[in-house]
Amino acid sequence: TQYNAPGNWPTSVRGRVPIDPENPAIVRDDQKCILCGQCIEVCEKIQSVFGNYELPIKKEFVCVNCGQCIQWCPSGAISERDDVNRVFKALADPNVTVVVQTAPATRIGLGEEFGMPVGTNVQGKQVAALRKLGFDVVFDTNFTADLTIMEEGTELVKRVTGELHHPIPQMTSCCPGWVKFVEYFYPELIPNLSSAKSPQQMEGALIKTYFAEKKEVDPKKIFSVAIMPCTAKKFECQRPEMNSASKELNDSNVSPDVDVVLTTRELARMIKRSGIDFASLPEEEYDKLMGTGTGAGVIFGTTGGVMEAAVRSAYYLITGQQPPAALWNLTPVRGMQGVKEAAVNIPGVGDVKVAVISGLANARKVMDQMKAGHAPWAFMEIMACPGGCEYGGGQPRASSPPSD
Ligand code: SF4
Repeated sequence: TQYNAPGNWPTSVRGRVPIDPENPAIVRDDQKCILCGQCIEVCEKIQSVFGNYELPIKKEFVCVNCGQCIQWCPSGAISERDDVNRVFKALADPNVTVVVQTAPATRIGLGEEFGMPVGTNVQGKQVAALRKLGFDVVFDTNFTADLTIMEEGTELVKRVTGELHHPIPQMTSCCPGWVKFVEYFYPELIPNLSSAKSPQQMEGALIKTYFAEKKEVDPKKIFSVAIMPCTAKKFECQRPEMNSASKELNDSNVSPDVDVVLTTRELARMIKRSGIDFASLPEEEYDKLMGTGTGAGVIFGTTGGVMEAAVRSAYYLITGQQPPAALWNLTPVRGMQGVKEAAVNIPGVGDVKVAVISGLANARKVMDQMKAGHAPWAFMEIMACPGGCEYGGGQPRASSPPSD
């Protein structure tokens, strides 16, 4: 059946963005759906996904799992797939070491769920809450955001200098919603994606290898949890290739690298359900082994952050010099515009043009330009959510429906 024309949609789809019951990230409660069509509005116009294909393609409904429909749904009918109970179960098992990592954007989103002003940094309280919930080890995803920057920066240098015969522009690969968008709509541009894993998946692989070895913990008895601002990360951790630790250790029982992803909202629900008084928690530090990161890792949470960090690294890797002041504040790629551009002069290479895009309708326009031969950039940062992960599908809703 071709569902692409609204008149052809089955009753269950009319007024609703189609969500496959098997969707690993997003669920819809049809009892709460008021058929307002807001989800279709955002999916089609802001994210350029719905309506850009004939349903179903590849025998599945097309969803990049970005969760922007959750943020737009006024009735609370759409939400993330709830994995809270899986994590409570692991925490209750004395034979399991539960290790958690927290993404940069969650620390500035979580406070909203507890009535704090928008943008309050609750990093220390978040760590304290996770320990109170029973997590054995609390790590910072900023640690592997730094590794991602080094990987992407090195790969960029190799592409620009011709050492690596992969196409330019190099495109970031840390946003799973964006990666899925490319896979569905622009498969011919897959070689432009960086080969670097996302920080979440790098940290997951390291938890079950490096951490397990250093602390002499059986990797089969590690349960790895990631707190993310993102619903697409739930999809990402289930991708069959995200099992590096298992491959490294040649043991399928170690898979997957990340067992469960919880959104910022789900973590808030766990804290509330456990009766923890979040506001009065003292601030605590991350565990040391993988609990430190640079300011470059922190800015991954906002649009332009990955670009700013990677360009600084590329400058250093090419010149052996610290970047000049202008690169520490790459202002043209800051701000909330959907498409931003800058040119960075790197001695020995010349002007390197970069672009920063957020929101998939913006990305589609730029990808179409690229296919038409207009691609003056060496490096592009693309994030599915308009504004980047700060405004991810797993962050507190602007006006929160009642939580359980
Ligand atoms: Fe997830 Fe961030 Fe991508 Fe949104 S922009 S889908 S929050 S990684």
